[in-house]
Amino acid sequence: MTQVEIEELVSEFKQTAPVRVVALARELGLRVMRTNQWDLTVSGAIVRNQDGAFTVWTNAKHPEIRRRFTIAHEVAHYVLHRDAIGDGIRDDALFRSSLGGILERQANSYAADLLMPLNLVNQCFDEGADSIEKLAAALRVSKTAMSIRLGIPWE
Ligand SMILES: [Zn+2]
Repeated sequence: MTQVEIEELVSEFKQTAPVRVVALARELGLRVMRTNQWDLTVSGAIVRNQDGAFTVWTNAKHPEIRRRFTIAHEVAHYVLHRDAIGDGIRDDALFRSSLGGILERQANSYAADLLMPLNLVNQCFDEGADSIEKLAAALRVSKTAMSIRLGIPWE
């Protein structure tokens, strides 16, 4: 898949709420797995397999909303950083990895835009999701993530 094709596919998935992030990852050719083997301080990983494809791992101990963000974050590493991740990287609870802070912030920002594209936020609002709580539920993200996205303090 070329970079343009990847971006077109991502754009398509950003048209429907909630964004189907697992289906997107699979269409990008990523395997999506979860593991019980980590403690809560690990969020996820993206690992290059022997066949050259990548597997995204999430922490089975984290709630689904959290795992959705992790998958979006690892998808971001694949789309933006796959030439920099070598055999793979592991993200801790604060999404820090061997890639370093700038690339990690870039991945977080890409993940937020993937799960909460402004067109969908506006669409959900027009359809009656008129609070942080309702918007978060409509897009299947945490209330904290939604409030940060909107620049509105929560609690
Ligand atoms: Zn990361």
